This record gives sequence, structure tokens and C-alpha cells, in this order.
Amino acid sequence: MMDRRSFVALGGLTAAGALGAAPLMPVAAAKPHGSPHSEPDWNALRRSVEGTVLLPDDEGYELAHGTYIKRYDAIRPAAVVQASRTEDISETVRFAQQYGVRAVARSGGHSFGGYSTGPGIVVDLSPMNRTTLADGLVHTQAGTKLVDLQQTLLAHGVTISGGMCPTVGISGLTLGGGFGMAGRRHGLTSDRLTSVRVVLADGRIVTCDRNRHPDLFWALRGGGCGSFGFVSDFTFEPFRADDPTVFELHWPWSRAAEVLPAWQHWAPDAPDDLSSGMFVRTPGPAIEPQLYAFGQWAGIPAELDRQLDRFTALVGHEPVKVVRRTMSYWAAVMHWAGCSEFTGSQCHGEGQTPDGKLPRFEYALTKSSFFDDVMTPKAVETLTRAFTAPGSGAQLRGLEFHAFGGAYNRPQPNTTAFVHRRQRFLLQYLAQVPVDAPEEHKQDVTRWAQRLHSSMLPWASGESYQNYTDPDLRDWQRAYYGRNYGQLARIKHRYDPERFFDFPQAIGR
Ligand SMILES: Cc1cc2nc3c(=O)[nH]c(=O)nc-3n(C[C@H](O)[C@H](O)[C@H](O)COP(=O)(O)OP(=O)(O)OC[C@H]3O[C@@H](n4cnc5c(N)ncnc54)[C@H](O)[C@@H]3O)c2cc1C
Repeated sequence: MMDRRSFVALGGLTAAGALGAAPLMPVAAAKPHGSPHSEPDWNALRRSVEGTVLLPDDEGYELAHGTYIKRYDAIRPAAVVQASRTEDISETVRFAQQYGVRAVARSGGHSFGGYSTGPGIVVDLSPMNRTTLADGLVHTQAGTKLVDLQQTLLAHGVTISGGMCPTVGISGLTLGGGFGMAGRRHGLTSDRLTSVRVVLADGRIVTCDRNRHPDLFWALRGGGCGSFGFVSDFTFEPFRADDPTVFELHWPWSRAAEVLPAWQHWAPDAPDDLSSGMFVRTPGPAIEPQLYAFGQWAGIPAELDRQLDRFTALVGHEPVKVVRRTMSYWAAVMHWAGCSEFTGSQCHGEGQTPDGKLPRFEYALTKSSFFDDVMTPKAVETLTRAFTAPGSGAQLRGLEFHAFGGAYNRPQPNTTAFVHRRQRFLLQYLAQVPVDAPEEHKQDVTRWAQRLHSSMLPWASGESYQNYTDPDLRDWQRAYYGRNYGQLARIKHRYDPERFFDFPQAIGR
């Protein structure tokens, strides 16, 4: 079975290289208040934190400075603070305030916009990766990667809603929403969040939940990536991890006009036990795309057949390949991660663990649109034509659909900051070229993604997923947060009036 990770590896796009001359600088200027400050006393910071402070000449800096996307490697932070406890985060925030240096947090480093790096201080939370279960609740630190979280929880027979990528950090996933293969039954990752511990702009450490700082708690569930404070700990309500059945149904690309709308009719209205997506991808513009639906079924395995028969009947053509397997929840996690052949420790980025095997992303970019209705034949034709438009070089191209409905859509759009509660499905547009590809290939793939995205806007709902960060998106405030943006901006003003936490798509801009 194919998985997300195989997509990344397709075409062997793993070569290291320097960043081209494409627009960089996703993060705001280094001086939060614009007032003159003296040179940062890095030794003082070293004395005040328990973790490690890495400056550009220090051993370990080269490995630590980049995010999971090589595209942003040319951004060299003034310091990387590898925090080992909440107080380290707090000390670093106070230090950054004192010297007028911008600070950003990094958990898994998967921000497509590069918002977890910058010229100032990166607070790298990866050493804070402990997960415990107590009193029926999951407590996890802000630098925990999804694969480690799942491995710990599944040893106790429970889990939480997670995404499919094993190396995504719990922080970015939760603070921006978090959908995955259990979401139509159990909701977003952030829907089962019960409390967080967060460091505010003045360095204070506060706990927020439904009763304490409820406004901040509301904002952090969907609007919280980097804008309000640096979260150090999350508490979730888990659920029992029964063995799921995973499936794939493949059709030839020539069936796209039948398969795409059939899936859009079927998947968002299926029983909550079914979480499903659809993949279209190709390792190059002139190569026929692969097309398949995939999913995870939490119900009785035999009942899945009825669901898949209904889908196939809507398509009107039998799939050319069907894969269907009931497995342990951990095997399913590793399957979606593309790590079925690996141990938990190997299912990490190269260099992240001693035996980590997964390649980092190259020059990757994404865009997204939610849809609240099934695409018309004209929309499908526009999509397939724009997807296969000519292009230069080894462009990895992908479309990933993910069905909403079910538990995602039961809350009101303003129950949490995650506004996308009335959508049928999310469509992600993905592209990647090697980071050392010629500059014109990067520009070409960027234009391809822009055209594809904008050609579909007449049929899209106008909403986009804030966690598929798209630095080129105009009117991102409305697309990411809709009618919740005003309330988010007021909460931002209450907790961070001087806008210490800032980046191009920070709340309050
Ligand atoms: C390959 C891939 C697969 C993905 N699959 C899914 C999926 O299945 N489901 C899904 O919902 N999403 C998915 N995503 C999107 C993912 O949820 C976002 O990219 C997410 O923001 C990444 O979180 P991170 O911690 O790894 O990233 P980071 O880059 O570390 O952080 C993302 C943002 O959050 C901020 N931040 C990080 N830590 C903290 C903190 N502790 N407190 C406050 N702010 C913080 C950063 O400054 C940055 O702005 C995927 C992304 C990729 C690249």
C-alpha cells in the first residue's frame, strides 16, 4: 500500500543542497518593539536555562537550526534554545523581551510556511517529549512527535486523534486543529484537549482550560500556532484503541471524472466509523497520476464491505486494485506513516533519532481549500486539467482529499477557534522539487500550485486549513479563521498587546 511517506520519497527527491534565491524570510524582523537594545548576553541565557543554547559556531547548531523542510535551511537563527522544561521557555521569552529579539517556538518543525524558524531565537521544544497517562488523561510535553506519542499511548491500549505524519509535532497539530484517521468518530486532536500550560509574552506560566483563562483556551484550539504564547504541556482525553481496518481502492487516472465526485458524495456522509481520504499524485508532470481512495474503519470489519460496495456503485466501475486489512492500531499508525518496515525509533527524521530513517522535505509547498459541496463535472474537469498542466523538472505533485462531516462537524463553528465545521472535505494541493533544483523550476512549480489553487476557487467554500500554511494566501484571516477572527484578535490584544509573538500570519495582523 502507498502512504504519505512514499509520496515524499517518490522520485528520490532527497538530495541535500543550498536554498535557491526564492523569497525567504517568513518570519518578522528581529526587534519586537523597535527600540534600541544592547547585544544579547547569550552567556546569561545559558546560565538561566537547564537546556542547551546553541549559537551558529557551536557544535550541534547545523543539525538543530533547520526545520523539517530543507527549503528553509538558509534561515540561520541567532540562537537555538533546546528547552528541557517550562521554566526554560519562560526564561527565554523574558530574555528575548529584554534584548528585543524575536522568538518562535518549534515542536515538529513541519510548518509549510517556515514559521518555526527565523533570524531571532528558536525555542526548540523537541527535548520536552515525555508522555504519561494518569487519572484517565494523557499528559504530553510540547515537543513530542506523533509517532512517539502513539507508541506510548498504544502500549496502554488507548490513543488520541492524530494526523498521519509521524514526525509532526503535537504542538502545531493541536494548536491548528488536527485531523486524522480517527477524526470522523473522535473529532480533531484539539477537540479532546482538556488543558494546556502556556508561557505568555511576559514570561508568566499559566494553565488554561474551560474554567481558567477560558478565552485563551478557546483560541488555542485552532488558532494557537505561535500567536498567543508558547505551550509547554497538553492534556487530552484519550479513547480506546480497537483494531481498525485500513483500505485502499485504486482506479486508473482515466476514471478520475467518476471517482472524484463519487468519493465526495460518499465519504463525508459515511458512518462516523469511517475516516477517508483520496490521493492523486505523480512524480513528474508528464507521468500519469496515481489515483486512489484510502481510509480507516473503526467498526466491525465485515460492515466495511457494505460501505465500500456503496462507494464502488457510485463510481460505476470496479477498482483495479483493492487492499483491505484489519490490524492493530499501532500497525495502522505505522502504515499511514509509511513506517511499516520500521521500528518506532526508525520512524523519525534522519538525525532526529540515532537510527531515524525518514528523509526531510525538499523545496515543498502547499495550498488548500475546503469545499462544502460536491464538485460539479466542470470543476472536476478544471481540476484534472490544471493538475496535469505541463511543467519543468522533477516536480512531485499531489492532491490529497480528506473527508470532514461526522464528529468534525458536530461542534458549532465558534465552539473552538477551528471554524471549519460545515465543510464536506478538505483538498490539499502539494508540490515539491529538489532543494538544489534550478531557480526556474522552483518558480515554475510555485506558479503551477498558484494556478491550480486559484482555478478551483469558484467552487471552493473560501476556507483554507491554517495548518497547511500558505504564505502567499491573500485574505488568510478570513480563509483560516472566518468569523472567529475578530474574537481571536481581541484575545491576542488581551494576552499579547505589544505583539511579541509575531510572524507574517500571526493573529492580530
Ligand atoms: C508531511 C506532513 C503531513 C501532515 N499531515 C497532517 C495531518 O494528517 N493532519 C493534520 O491536521 N495536519 C497535517 N499536517 C499539517 C501539520 O499539522 C502542521 O504543519 C503543523 O503545524 C505542524 O506542527 P509541528 O509542531 O510539526 O510544526 P512547527 O513548525 O514546529 O510548528 C508549527 C507552528 O506552530 C508554532 N508552534 C510550535 N510549537 C508551539 C508551541 N509549543 N506553542 C505555540 N506555538 C507553537 C510554530 O512557531 C509554528 O508557527 C501535515 C504536515 C506535513 C508537513
